Amino acid sequence: MQKLLTKQVLFEHRLKIALEASGLDLWENDLSTGEIIFGLSKVFDQLGYASQETAAYIDDIFSLMHPDDIATVKLAVNRHVEGETSRYYSEFRLRNQAGEWVWFANYGKIIDRDENNRGHRFTGVCFSLEEQMRYKEELNALNTRLATQNEQLEQMNKELHRLANYDALTNTVNRRRLMELGLEEVERAKHFNLHLSFMLIDIDFFKIINDTWGHLAGDQAIKAVAQRCEDTLKDQIATLGRFGGEEFTVLLPSLSQEGAEAVANQICTCIAKEGVWLPDIGQAIPVTVSIGVAELSRIGGGGFSELIDAADKALYEAKRSGRNKVCTHPG
Ligand code: GH3
Ligand code: MG
Ligand code: MG
Repeated sequence: MQKLLTKQVLFEHRLKIALEASGLDLWENDLSTGEIIFGLSKVFDQLGYASQETAAYIDDIFSLMHPDDIATVKLAVNRHVEGETSRYYSEFRLRNQAGEWVWFANYGKIIDRDENNRGHRFTGVCFSLEEQMRYKEELNALNTRLATQNEQLEQMNKELHRLANYDALTNTVNRRRLMELGLEEVERAKHFNLHLSFMLIDIDFFKIINDTWGHLAGDQAIKAVAQRCEDTLKDQIATLGRFGGEEFTVLLPSLSQEGAEAVANQICTCIAKEGVWLPDIGQAIPVTVSIGVAELSRIGGGGFSELIDAADKALYEAKRSGRNKVCTHPG
């Protein structure tokens, strides 16, 4: 014959199943005595304590609690007891038998408040936060790793950008980037009807420098000439590029041919006057450059290639007519 269960027993069964399945540990405290009426056996079991070691009073729990958490937990309890909060919730660490700190959370309510808002039975559940904390720690570690990798990626992108656009020896824009910039500037100059001047700078008798001082000293001379050009151009809207070998280019947006010629003369004079310092051999050597100058609106049409060609012809003329000088395209 089927056994009839009272509503009370049925309710108890259901509650037991729910607590078992959820891993919640039901507790109840007597607020007037500070006694733990029941509960927390699961928590103590999880902490590795024998059943006779379970806490009898709330203060027993505080003696196991991490000192940094006690004030927060007490404050949360007090706020609920005073009726400031409709429920009590706190997170804290308890010391297990091995002396390690284990994270738990408490959720509770006073269930028998009288008309003066005073209650005795404080009931709630306690549950482990270990898994949550482990996920949090794993997530934090993952985020830290990700942030480091992002930083490295950013650095690598910067380096890639530098390698793709700049010449390693002189740190001026490389030929590939110069061609891109040149096309853009030509478009802009034509669209807005602006000046665009261009220079080709070539070190004179560079082979002799290489032959006399060696290839490495030659590299240093190339670097030093680039630096001289940068110094002279610092007040101009100008982009210095290494066209190849011992040849440099300067893009001068908004500068007329006469303006560019004046700047070219400054470069030529300054290099001829001071030569360049070669750190490896510890002395300055005499160096001169020849420069060809052209301006977009005076080359009779065409784009960036034609502008380069015009400056190249002017450079050839500077070489032919004695070097250490500036020549402009006759247009
Ligand atoms: P010119 O006055 O007619 O320009 O004479 P030059 O000797 O400067 O001209 P040329 O073009 O005959 O020689 C350029 C030399 O530059 C030849 C090459 O060995 C050297 N060179 C090219 N690139 C580099 C480089 O990166 N480093 C060094 N040290 N030498 C280079
Ligand atoms: Mg050359
Ligand atoms: Mg040369």
